[in-house]
Amino acid sequence: MNEYPYWWDTVPGLRPGSENLELRTGNPANPATPAPSPQPPAPGPRSDVLVIGAGYTGLAAARQLARSGASVLVLERERVGWGASSRNGGQVLTGLRLDPATLVRRYGEVRARQVFGVGERSIARLEALIAEEHIDCEYARTGHVQAAWKPAHFDALRDEQALLARVFGHRVELVSRADQRAEIGTDRYHGVLVDERSGALNPARYVHGLAAAAVRAGACVRTGVAVTRVQRESMEWRVATTDGDVTARNVLVATNGYTTGVTPSLQRCYVPVGSYIIATEPLPPDRAAAILPRGRMAFDSKNYLYYFRVTSDRRLLFGGRAEFAAPRADTTRRAAAILRQGMIDVFPDLAAARIDYAWGGNVAFTRDQLPHAGVLDGMFYAGGYCGHGIAMATHLGEQIARRIAGESPAAEHPLFDDRFSTIPLYDGRPWFLPLVGAYYRFLDLIT
Ligand SMILES: Cc1cc2nc3c(=O)[nH]c(=O)nc-3n(C[C@H](O)[C@H](O)[C@H](O)COP(=O)(O)OP(=O)(O)OC[C@H]3O[C@@H](n4cnc5c(N)ncnc54)[C@H](O)[C@@H]3O)c2cc1C
Repeated sequence: MNEYPYWWDTVPGLRPGSENLELRTGNPANPATPAPSPQPPAPGPRSDVLVIGAGYTGLAAARQLARSGASVLVLERERVGWGASSRNGGQVLTGLRLDPATLVRRYGEVRARQVFGVGERSIARLEALIAEEHIDCEYARTGHVQAAWKPAHFDALRDEQALLARVFGHRVELVSRADQRAEIGTDRYHGVLVDERSGALNPARYVHGLAAAAVRAGACVRTGVAVTRVQRESMEWRVATTDGDVTARNVLVATNGYTTGVTPSLQRCYVPVGSYIIATEPLPPDRAAAILPRGRMAFDSKNYLYYFRVTSDRRLLFGGRAEFAAPRADTTRRAAAILRQGMIDVFPDLAAARIDYAWGGNVAFTRDQLPHAGVLDGMFYAGGYCGHGIAMATHLGEQIARRIAGESPAAEHPLFDDRFSTIPLYDGRPWFLPLVGAYYRFLDLIT
């Protein structure tokens, strides 16, 4: 079993131990078969904007800023997309982490509509960007199914369908358990909700395509360079890195679930939670086709939810929050065993399927379970996508870039927040995760 993301084997050079893939700018139409590329230019000692982190947030922002004429340096301590952006499930879902009923209850219909609308706009923007930059990342509007784990959950999905239509003008379909085999090849669930507007992509190919687009726009992306300290000095920032000091007029922190004590206030706003995925061997064509006959993305209604999809080479990717702790070798193996049991519970005839890959990554949760972007301690930031970040990170990365460039005022965006507050009694080390995990397991038993 390979203990690294399946996606890394779909982009040449990403497999651990192979020649490190740096930026491929030679063939934007197909990052999977890149032409030999020039090394990115060496950074100047001073840039208009220094971006920390080369995932979707940092790269979408860098591309946008470079296009508006700014000199941009992106520093990534590992390699392009090394964080969640090349590890995720590739599910481009409508909505947000917070369910529509909670959004309305907490914020009222007007604000709930604004926030929900950001999710919709972010998918439209992601689609436009992929088309504009010819990023070959297998993007398709597949739709998604949300599967009811218990009979009562199907009643809740019915309520959600009515609320989505009434408050958000968003249409979804319900399919009862008797008919669900047209959507999902199992009887484990008690009916499903179908949303045609969601999509799917290969996350590693997307992040590498985005990096190439940022470089073409004029940004400099340097990998293997960690930021170790950020300090304000009169009119600019002095940034210490593992490769020497640089200065910048503005700093954008795009480190999300991998934020460290380099930006201590932001670290205390995000809770990094482990999310894990296993991938089977390629399945026989008819077996793979029966899992999700319409090729949709899937997740279920539990708190400790399962999410799954089939890849273009017919593997089942089956993920979940099997462990709350951040990924390490032991947590990944333990999570893989838990997820395999879950997969067999849902699809019993996959008991003999070989597991070829298992991996994990950090999801950044916020106190209110909404993404945020703005200014904190004088630095710009965007993040806290709560596991719902492919389209949202792309969108908020661009939006915060517009703000840095002076193109959009602070009050313009419903998720802009210059008073992002740290979580009480939390120093950035999530000591409470085992308790939270136990609480959610208990909720799944009783609700
Ligand atoms: C297992 C898993 C499954 C997921 N599934 C989905 C899904 O199906 N759909 C969806 O929409 N979202 C999903 N997500 C969430 C999504 O992947 C993230 O929201 C998104 O990738 C965040 O992008 P980002 O650029 O903000 O952060 P990241 O991609 O995590 O990038 C942050 C980068 O910052 C770098 N960094 C940190 N500190 C420093 C430093 N000091 N100096 C230099 N670099 C630094 C890190 O190395 C890292 O590469 C999933 C996440 C995980 C982990």
